[in-house]
Amino acid sequence: MDQAREEILSYEKSEKPLARGEREALLRNPGWGRVFTDHMVTIRYKEGRGWHDGKIRARTDVRLEPGSMVFHYSQEIFEGLKAYRMPDGGAALFRPDANARRFRNSAERMAMAPLPESMFLASVREIVSVDREWIPSAEGAALYLRPFMIATEVALGTKPSAEYLYCVVASPVGSYFKGGAAAVTLWISENYTRAARGGTGAAKCGGNYAASLAAQAEGAREGCDQVVFLDAVERKWVEELGGMNVFFIFDDGTLQTPPLTGTILPGVTRDSLITLGHDLGLTVREQPYAIDEWQADATSGRLREAFACGTAAVITPIGKVKGKSRAFSIGDAEPGQLTQRLKTALTDIQFGRAPDPHGWRNRLF
Ligand SMILES: *Cc1c(COP(=O)(O)O)cnc(C)c1O
Repeated sequence: MDQAREEILSYEKSEKPLARGEREALLRNPGWGRVFTDHMVTIRYKEGRGWHDGKIRARTDVRLEPGSMVFHYSQEIFEGLKAYRMPDGGAALFRPDANARRFRNSAERMAMAPLPESMFLASVREIVSVDREWIPSAEGAALYLRPFMIATEVALGTKPSAEYLYCVVASPVGSYFKGGAAAVTLWISENYTRAARGGTGAAKCGGNYAASLAAQAEGAREGCDQVVFLDAVERKWVEELGGMNVFFIFDDGTLQTPPLTGTILPGVTRDSLITLGHDLGLTVREQPYAIDEWQADATSGRLREAFACGTAAVITPIGKVKGKSRAFSIGDAEPGQLTQRLKTALTDIQFGRAPDPHGWRNRLF
């Protein structure tokens, strides 16, 4: 690690870190994604030169020429992962290697320079290490890490940028939804789709989010918390939420989630829950599920529970689903028992409260 630090990142520690009292006040109620730590990581890329000028430095503005390509053609990708406070006061990341790999895959899809996984890992480990006082210790809280990369070549021609800026910022976070662990209501997006075969649905790029916001706003007008997207071809198969994967639990103890066909973001949480489902003795299916089946099964009681999952919101039970011409509830619209068991299994590993049989914890200190 020290060697990686020397080779990849030079240190310019902040001369003005936030005073302890102010930091602790912010950590008591950080909200979600509004508070940032003292430092950031930046690494630059230039064609012919490769990755260079890696730094851990005081967090500051990023200055860009207005002609920088990211402003015009949106070559931008990001990641999201958390550093968790361990019971002994140390800290660990959860499967950061999976984020490093996905970041590479996203870069390739967007024709951007792939960041070597070793650099990604060094960057996230180092920012947590230098800003370790910012890892909250309240129940369920964590230090959210946001690595991202933008096209910085100054040019208006449409071609892949020859220059990139990779950055990592860190933000202490509490619960994603204001209601905490209460069940959410979903709006079925019928006017908008999120991703089509051959598109960018499996890449973690900002453009996917930009494209989902009109649907999200429509859902909010309908009194819903989140949007659920259907496939773009048949407008029938449940895909995922704007930023979370979706799971279904049936009365025979089967756990089901839509398969990864290129239009769904391959969530690390999704992948982990498939493994934990097997560990808990559930039958796990990666199989398409139609919106009509969902309604019929929820009404008949064959479907017992449904939940959304992702790093940010962890596991969020789905209580109700609404669309232009339908509305139904799942179970008694309360968080289900198996949903809760899966959440406990996952978060006990993430927070170091349980053994780590799959080697998912990446201990930092
Ligand atoms: C990030 C993301 C997810 C969840 O992925 P995790 O790795 O579990 O955090 C799901 N869907 C979309 C669209 C995402 O961007």
